[in-house]
Amino acid sequence: MSELSTELREIRAMTRDFAAAEIAPHAQEWNATKTVPVETLRTMASLGLFGVNVPEELGGAGLGTLGLCVVMEELAAADAGTSTGLAAQCSLTIPPIVNFGSDAQRREWVPALASGERFGAYALSEADHGSDAAGLTTSASEVGGGFAISGSKLWITNGGFADVFIVFARTDGPGASGVSAFIVEKDSGVKVGREIPKMGLHTSSTVELAFDGVEVPRERVLGERRQGMRIAFSTLDAGRIVIAGQAVGIARAALELATRYAAERTAFGGPIARFQGVQFPIADVAAKIDAARVLTHRAARIRDAGEPCTEIGAKAKLFASSVAVEAANVAVQTLGGYGYSAEFPAERYYRDAKITELYEGTSEIQRLVIARQLMGDAARG
Ligand SMILES: Cc1cc2nc3c(=O)[nH]c(=O)nc-3n(C[C@H](O)[C@H](O)[C@H](O)COP(=O)(O)OP(=O)(O)OC[C@H]3O[C@@H](n4cnc5c(N)ncnc54)[C@H](O)[C@@H]3O)c2cc1C
Repeated sequence: MSELSTELREIRAMTRDFAAAEIAPHAQEWNATKTVPVETLRTMASLGLFGVNVPEELGGAGLGTLGLCVVMEELAAADAGTSTGLAAQCSLTIPPIVNFGSDAQRREWVPALASGERFGAYALSEADHGSDAAGLTTSASEVGGGFAISGSKLWITNGGFADVFIVFARTDGPGASGVSAFIVEKDSGVKVGREIPKMGLHTSSTVELAFDGVEVPRERVLGERRQGMRIAFSTLDAGRIVIAGQAVGIARAALELATRYAAERTAFGGPIARFQGVQFPIADVAAKIDAARVLTHRAARIRDAGEPCTEIGAKAKLFASSVAVEAANVAVQTLGGYGYSAEFPAERYYRDAKITELYEGTSEIQRLVIARQLMGDAARG
């Protein structure tokens, strides 16, 4: 019995078919050649996948964070980097505008981003401020009718082809309360740096951005001035649930590969699947993947019900990401030497799984978030 609505099962089936036909067959080559499949992202948008969690009145399907998690699992099972392209648009760029933007900002940006007419990116992290994002140093000073942004951002997903950035910059002195968020068009003078070489996720664009007095009109402030970190953290609360969905997808692909291979590969006169030493790690990760999916969907439902989701979202990401890394490791081990070969996808899953323990808050930060929710001020340094 499926716990998903008919609508979600339909979108899951459609995404699975699309991923099997349009992404999976190319994933090895795209990753080997470090190709970011921008046209495939556009096709995904034309199928409505960028609007899954966008409210219907803004041109989306209104299927919430749960809908996005379902889509992410399917895409990530085919290729994690491609799914990251969708996540940066659908869980990091569109939601802050939907949740905190003015009516005019929503009308101007959301339908264009949901249809794939425009691409967006979320620019919070800096070279010296990742986990400690509230210490960011990019500044926005008042000039004429708006602000001039100066500084730089690092690790910006989709930055290589984005038309617009959600930029967090310091307007009002030190600390979290001194940060504001801005909608900044690339054409206003944002300098896009080189693609950062990475361990994996080779189909995802990750760049540095430089701002040298980039002028932004006052109406491009997102939400209220000094509300930047609230916007950033609220966005990440849901974003982490979506990354948990991505981790489940990578883990599922690794498990499917390991089970298929174990049944086919023979050693000592029969399939390796008959060895308990091969069966047990596979069985363990199979159980954990189901648990990770249930936890992820529960977190998404809580978010979609408008209830606080900081703790449950951190739990989902912490758990699902560790399952992804374990499942990928099991896949590599099950395939033996072939698991280490770049001609089989196991090593790609291994490299891609690792990112889910790092971005949108490392596993240490998820533990810190959970501990602070449980123990309040006593858990703060
Ligand atoms: C491929 C990729 C894509 C990304 N995409 C984006 C994006 O689109 N937009 C964006 O803004 N950012 C993005 N990031 C940045 C990402 O979110 C940060 O890298 C991440 O938050 C960690 O920050 P850091 O790299 O500065 O590590 P640091 O914060 O320097 O952490 C280093 C180590 O110290 C640990 N640590 C730090 N503070 C604590 C603490 N208080 N308690 C315990 N341990 C601690 C960390 O867990 C980690 O193990 C991306 C990163 C990568 C690699």
